[in-house]
Amino acid sequence: MKVVICGAGVIGASLAYFLAQRGVTVTIIDRCGVATAASGKSGGFLALDWCDGSPMEQLTRNSFALHAELAALLGKTYDYRRLDTYLVESTERDSLVPSRPGNPKWLNGNCAVRYALGTSTTTAQVHPEKFTRTLIDAAIERGATLQIGCIEGISLSGTPQTVRSVVVDGTSIPADVAVIAMGPWSNTAAKWLPLPPVGGAKSQSITLHPTGKIPAHALFVEYRTARGEQHAPEIFARPDGEVYICGMSDDTPVPESADQVAPNLPACDALHRMAANLSSSLASAKRTRNQACYRPICIDGLPLLGRIPGVSGAFVATGHNCWGILNAPASGLAMTELIVDGYAKTVDLSPFDPRRLMSHSPALVT
Ligand SMILES: Cc1cc2nc3c(=O)[nH]c(=O)nc-3n(C[C@H](O)[C@H](O)[C@H](O)COP(=O)(O)OP(=O)(O)OC[C@H]3O[C@@H](n4cnc5c(N)ncnc54)[C@H](O)[C@@H]3O)c2cc1C
Repeated sequence: MKVVICGAGVIGASLAYFLAQRGVTVTIIDRCGVATAASGKSGGFLALDWCDGSPMEQLTRNSFALHAELAALLGKTYDYRRLDTYLVESTERDSLVPSRPGNPKWLNGNCAVRYALGTSTTTAQVHPEKFTRTLIDAAIERGATLQIGCIEGISLSGTPQTVRSVVVDGTSIPADVAVIAMGPWSNTAAKWLPLPPVGGAKSQSITLHPTGKIPAHALFVEYRTARGEQHAPEIFARPDGEVYICGMSDDTPVPESADQVAPNLPACDALHRMAANLSSSLASAKRTRNQACYRPICIDGLPLLGRIPGVSGAFVATGHNCWGILNAPASGLAMTELIVDGYAKTVDLSPFDPRRLMSHSPALVT
């Protein structure tokens, strides 16, 4: 069986890893390179139980466990670690009094830890770009091929319609199976296959390099500016000394390709100002990156994982919204089972079946 995975973000990478492990011939294609979009620019935060009570529960719990297994198996090359997670309040106006459990020493600005959202048992992190690259490298070691090129179409023939090849830069790559894993660009594939709409929600992020060591903490911040505006930046200290901060969403449409995504610089400055209000270490830290990326999102906020109806050999794996790094391992494993064995045994994929949203599709875009 020849499988072509369209998109080398974390979802395509995880699928490539698990398919290659099963001995499947895999080609993974990306127009810009590995992890050039959200999969290289996200927080990399993982939580065991934050999706409990939703259709994501089983997928997420399996994935959190798989992250720990993969980190042990693949080596600590992508900064996997457990951490403590806090809800923090911060304001540019009134002074705040910390309540229990009290502020960690490094949070010496105008902020107050309100409560713990997670502990080292329930929350963890990876460096998302390093994680995605590690999965691709491991897939290549097991025989997969990575190709850089723009996917321009999927060739179908027969009755029922069956995948024959994937067209990349004008050349056809033979395929028995094609998987659309193009994140917020999966909408492009609606020109070739019957797919429900997938949108993209943009946020900015920055990275800082403080001189001192910041402990293994993740912060979800309720922030009020001097003008009374409310924001919700997220701050993740990383083992390599970097501190990652994201937030400040905007509604700029998804550009044609990942290398055209540009950060909104005033919004990046605002993220740095907010971080500075929390900690003198972050105020004095050198800013190393301003960046932006898009979360792939479906109308009901759930991923699309399954067969594309009406086309034999066509599958989709996208729409992971704000939890793509967390849910990549269990998504890749379950999709591998679906493609190779004909059904997913580790996760019930029925809540994520694309057919649930087909009424929202304007059918094939021509
Ligand atoms: C600011 C921010 C912070 C986040 N933080 C977290 C977090 O802490 N934890 C978490 O779990 N998730 C987080 N997420 C969500 C997570 O990053 C995404 O859900 C995930 O990265 C999506 O992965 P993907 O592989 O589906 O898509 P992408 O990473 O977008 O990859 C899609 C790939 O498809 C390629 N492609 C598109 N069109 C074509 C074409 N025509 N030909 C060839 N290639 C093509 C693109 O170049 C791209 O590389 C965050 C997202 C954002 C925006």
